[in-house]
Amino acid sequence: MSSDAPLFALFADLRGRCVLVVGGGSVARRKVKALRHAGARVTVGAPHIEALLQTQIERGEIDAIHGEFKPEWLDQAFWLVVAATNDDAANQVVAEAAEARRLFVNVVDDACRSSVQLPAIVDRGHLQIAISSGGGAPMLARHLRRQLESWFDSSWGALAQLLTEKRALIRQRLPELGPRRSFFERLLAGPIQSLLRQHQFEAARQHLQNALERPQALPQGSVTLVGAGSGDPGLITLNALRALNRADVILHDRLVSAEVLQLARRDAHFIEVGKTGHGASTSQDAIHALMLEHVRAGRHVVRLKGGDAFVFGRGGEELQFLRKHDIRYEVVPGITAALACSAYAGIPLTHREHAQEVRLITAHNKDALTPSDWLALAQPKQTLVFYMGVAMLDRIRAHLLDAGLAAGTPVALVENGSQANQRVAVGDLHGLCELAQAHRISAPALLIVGEVAALATQLHWFGAPPLQANTSKVLSQAA
Ligand code: SAH
Repeated sequence: MSSDAPLFALFADLRGRCVLVVGGGSVARRKVKALRHAGARVTVGAPHIEALLQTQIERGEIDAIHGEFKPEWLDQAFWLVVAATNDDAANQVVAEAAEARRLFVNVVDDACRSSVQLPAIVDRGHLQIAISSGGGAPMLARHLRRQLESWFDSSWGALAQLLTEKRALIRQRLPELGPRRSFFERLLAGPIQSLLRQHQFEAARQHLQNALERPQALPQGSVTLVGAGSGDPGLITLNALRALNRADVILHDRLVSAEVLQLARRDAHFIEVGKTGHGASTSQDAIHALMLEHVRAGRHVVRLKGGDAFVFGRGGEELQFLRKHDIRYEVVPGITAALACSAYAGIPLTHREHAQEVRLITAHNKDALTPSDWLALAQPKQTLVFYMGVAMLDRIRAHLLDAGLAAGTPVALVENGSQANQRVAVGDLHGLCELAQAHRISAPALLIVGEVAALATQLHWFGAPPLQANTSKVLSQAA
């Protein structure tokens, strides 16, 4: 035997097979759980058995042998033995007894005494990814598992299940290996996985069926509408990360931070369809046309927007366009500016003493709000969050004051929220414009109005403490 030969990887079918776990503590319990998950008939043997295992014994889910381990225990027909006691010497006895009977034994956390090792597992039903470092670097295996966990979502398990179900049919339709392989390539490049991610199992099955009937059909592209969060790349979701890693083409707004773009697949084609409050921007029609062009060429397009695509992001319009052209899409929500800016400024949007309601308002369309809308906004115990408002602070202030909101109502301006250059300025409604001018607050910035805004002074934690409005304090006291 070569001493540096690697382990031989095996996947054992333990369904209905007897396995002995020696040990009755929490380590044993974890092993019992994993073994039962694989359908094994488990017997636990130990002098003391902890309560949760005891319950399983009482329910008849597992068997038990009470007492110190004796080699005779192995005379029963076990297929595998796991030594999970916290006593090295006891584990050694189990390992030797098993070895003498040519029974595979795993000694938990002891590669030297084990004849089989239990790998770190990414469990996706029929699809199991097992990682082993040969017992030498279990931390590395666990680290890798965490990465794979986030990479392989549950749709992979569903895909494996579907392919298992259709295996005979696929082989029958495509008996030659070459055509079968290229069928798989095309199938996996197509929409099947996104259908499974959307929990549309029937549609995925139908798609596979159609693809089998027309194996030469061209792959279809699709669009994933992704919210990129408000700047801090840590705010994007796992689903967003996966979409960015699958993308052929990324159409992104200017608000999307460079750090987020760096997380995307390197060889994706990046297209900035810049949209800022002012300045040059790509028209909505041109964005639609770009999406159509790439999808029709069979590509996966990620439409990446700052914050959340459905919050003042025109995501709805884009989906309506896609629906009209019968293009498949999915949506990944993002952390919208109201949530990111308030969190990073230490401003809870609701608070039992101060606000029971939150309103997200766009200041962009200045004529959209009627006087009665402003009256509703001026009610107490709510938090108002204005998007795209920096250029219109004077009008927002005038409308709110006219509608009866108190001049002393706290306000906060959050500029570049969640980013390294974040600035927060707090004051009151009366001094809002002076506050913004004094600190030259510019877009992108969010305006938060309501009692909770004052809490930034107390609860801030990110970046510099909030800037104050010295002048406005004096004015509001005078008012
Ligand atoms: N869909 C986006 C909003 C787009 S509207 C979202 O869900 O966040 C653009 C406005 O959002 C900006 O004018 C600004 O008011 C706000 N905004 C977006 N990102 C911001 C940030 N990092 N800091 C402060 N305001 C931000």
